[in-house]
Amino acid sequence: MKHLLPELPYAPDALAPGMSRETIEFHYGKHLQTYIDNLNRLIEGTPFADCSLDEIVRRADGAVFNNAAQTWNHTFFFLTLTPHQAPMPEKLAARLSEAFGSVENFLSEFTKAATGLFGSGWAWLTEDMDGRLSIVQTQNAGNPMTSGLTPLMTVDVWEHAYYIDYRNRRADYVAACLRLIDWEKVSGRLK
Ligand code: MN
Repeated sequence: MKHLLPELPYAPDALAPGMSRETIEFHYGKHLQTYIDNLNRLIEGTPFADCSLDEIVRRADGAVFNNAAQTWNHTFFFLTLTPHQAPMPEKLAARLSEAFGSVENFLSEFTKAATGLFGSGWAWLTEDMDGRLSIVQTQNAGNPMTSGLTPLMTVDVWEHAYYIDYRNRRADYVAACLRLIDWEKVSGRLK
């Protein structure tokens, strides 16, 4: 199957000032599009051509994995953002408090994981088979599904994600992302 750029549920300038139109144009419009184009080119004529994106991420390695996982991760990231952040649903707040002591503590631990990740990668909130929530860091294109975890939310901390708007200030970018997360979507992904 041919993989396509996902449609954003908001206008390209709707996340500003936290995430500018220019960042969306480059990060979503160019970086993500390139991963998708590379993936389509790499899987053509291989058994992966008939696989879902999830299957490719779970089974591939090398360049196919890198481009498939970057397609998956970015799609998940952009579709979890909203210009109209609503208060966190009680169900999610209760689960986060149970796992991390409080919602505030979760936000602080997640921020630490996202800002502290060395080099390029992703910070995630995940749920395991037993419903245990964890904060996970992955390097480069890494995706927690390859460790049997279900992603609930992610923040991209590759430099290309924040250099246009924040230059080297990754912490300011992470704080802005946390104000753009659609908590209702995150909550809806809980088992
Ligand atoms: Mn990115």
